[in-house]
Amino acid sequence: MVKMIVANWKANPQSQKEAEVLFNGVLKGIKNIKNAKIIICPPFPFLDVAKKFKSKKIILGAQDVSENTSGPYTGEVPPEMLTSLGVKYVIAGHSSRRAGGETDQVVNAKILNLLKFKLIPIICIGENNRDHEGAYLSFVENQIKNCLMGVTKAQMKNIILTYEPVWAISSNKTREATKEEFMEMKIFIKKVISDIYDSKIAHSIPILYGGSVSPINAKSFVEEGKADGLLVGRDSLNAKKFVDILKSLN
Ligand code: PEP
Repeated sequence: MVKMIVANWKANPQSQKEAEVLFNGVLKGIKNIKNAKIIICPPFPFLDVAKKFKSKKIILGAQDVSENTSGPYTGEVPPEMLTSLGVKYVIAGHSSRRAGGETDQVVNAKILNLLKFKLIPIICIGENNRDHEGAYLSFVENQIKNCLMGVTKAQMKNIILTYEPVWAISSNKTREATKEEFMEMKIFIKKVISDIYDSKIAHSIPILYGGSVSPINAKSFVEEGKADGLLVGRDSLNAKKFVDILKSLN
């Protein structure tokens, strides 16, 4: 089964030149990689890095989108601009944007906007903390329900979910998540999707894992945790580590 491996560069690197070096480093390393759909999400100013290398092996993604279409929205990047640069996938609802005040309602508006322009949302969900009473489960359930409001059954073919427990993301890590925790959550997410839509959609929706993925733990999340793919932050900024993640799954 082809696994989707998403690189989220966040606000890195510092220059166009460094972005080119990183992109090219990954490109050189993936010659023998099979069974992976590789999506790189650079920051907006470096989105055209992919153009220079014209690779068919790397798909271009963006880290965010505006909830508006083009018009008088200073500083916003609407979906039409992203499609014009060859972007196919867009991360929506990343925890660092949510931490900046982005609500589920805003994430939902962005998702609907992406779908309107045939872009594929990679929706991030995940609790800030775990508790013993299971409140984190209803937190994640509410995120899913709110973010998918108004998304039709037909549109669900173009939705990707990523479970990213905020406490396991490298920049605010309290500990690493386990493959068992991911697998339980995957089952729970599928149950929520089945309740909103139907079991067929729940069965087919890809659910990725994100949070301190490294060359050491990637394989266990995919093979034992049954993740349909991975979203990689920190270790996507080092071409060797990112390629090692891909090799570990080959
Ligand atoms: C992320 O922030 O989406 C992420 C997965 O980051 P990291 O791999 O650095 O934990």
